[in-house]
Amino acid sequence: MGYSSDRMLFKRNPKDVVLKVSLNCTVCGRFVNSNCEVHDASVEDVEIKVVGIPWAKLNYIKSQCVSFDEAKQTHFDGQQYINECLKIMITEAPWGKTDDMFLLQVGKALGDELETIVPSAYQEDNTSMQDFSEIKKE
Ligand SMILES: [Zn+2]
Repeated sequence: MGYSSDRMLFKRNPKDVVLKVSLNCTVCGRFVNSNCEVHDASVEDVEIKVVGIPWAKLNYIKSQCVSFDEAKQTHFDGQQYINECLKIMITEAPWGKTDDMFLLQVGKALGDELETIVPSAYQEDNTSMQDFSEIKKE
């Protein structure tokens, strides 16, 4: 077999992802509350299209997020990493362009969901990465 460009090179096939964003009740501010009469907490489906990140680009992002302090200790900026990944990965979303302006406004429930699509910066065999590098014949 050996080299196969079909299976070894990156493919930018957008994948549909449904984010399950939990919204707290507008009255009591909680997700579960049996004492609240109006209680309108819900889980909303937010559909987006996501592409993986080519290996070299992902390594570049990681290197951009590492800094050294005076004691030569390394620091990894996890939020910057997540933001940079999301900006590349999300190709279509109901909020329009995924940029810094948008990311600054993201609330916790949506942010927690967005975080799940980002490949882990620490693990090599990350499940979401495997997911996106899957070769799909269409
Ligand atoms: Zn309520």
